[in-house]
Amino acid sequence: MAVDYHLEGHVAVITGSTSGIGQALATALAEQGVSVVLNGFGDPAKIEADRAAIQAKAAANARVLYHDADMTKPAEIADLIGFAHKELGRLDILVNNAGIQHVAPVDEFPDEKWDALIAVILSSTFHATKHAVPIMKAQGRGRIVNIASAHGLVASAFKSPYCAAKFGVVGFTKSCAVELARTGITVNAICPGYVKTPLIEMQIGDQAKARGISPERVVEDVILAAQPNKTFVEYQNLAGMLLYLVSDVGSAATGAALSVDGAWTAT
Ligand code: NAD
Repeated sequence: MAVDYHLEGHVAVITGSTSGIGQALATALAEQGVSVVLNGFGDPAKIEADRAAIQAKAAANARVLYHDADMTKPAEIADLIGFAHKELGRLDILVNNAGIQHVAPVDEFPDEKWDALIAVILSSTFHATKHAVPIMKAQGRGRIVNIASAHGLVASAFKSPYCAAKFGVVGFTKSCAVELARTGITVNAICPGYVKTPLIEMQIGDQAKARGISPERVVEDVILAAQPNKTFVEYQNLAGMLLYLVSDVGSAATGAALSVDGAWTAT
């Protein structure tokens, strides 16, 4: 049986898509003919160059746009969703991906960092979903995919707000899925283990120098200590899961927190 995702003509908003995972997922959708609205921070010239590069890879007349909403600001989030609907005429897919990290002991955690993590990761997922759902209900179909984390299912020390926010995203995902189960809208979370982003690649060299060990040992013993397959999650591992969830092939999957983590959360 040949699987065709049939996504040409669909419209997606992907929050936090000016780098890393969000940018890779935006590219994967555009290559399938999905028009995408990018979002996130960064140097305007680089954002425009990246947008144009994704546009060049887009299939079937898909358009690639950018909106600069700060995902900590509810009014700007409403504007982002409204912009996609107005400019592209519909909204089929919402990927809540924007995220930040800060690591510190709970009794020393700066108040403003707690507030920022909860706002960018958890509250933005609520606000974007709230504004996307009426459009998707009117269409009779929609796909919401929240990029959570293995840290939405199991904890690590010194990451209390990150874990609180990501566990919250998983709970929010399940509640929305139950509530919307008869509307044609599915809501799922993808829970990646460690993904090889540029930030992580830089850390490997730095840690190897600091610890006087090889880059391979840094990967196995330090960065991927919790990940039994000792292999980073690749962007395409997440893109494949996303295409499954947003296409008709994935219509029966809703309310799931899907691990892509090399058996981390199986331990
Ligand atoms: P990244 O830092 O490369 O990208 C984060 C994106 O979010 C950027 O586009 C940034 O501009 C945007 N962003 C941050 N604050 C924002 C705000 N206030 N408003 C709008 N945009 C904002 O990170 P990444 O590694 O690609 O992570 C993407 C998502 O995946 C995050 O939710 C992260 O928690 C999750 N995740 C990452 C990993 C990993 O190993 N990298 C593992 C599991 C989950």
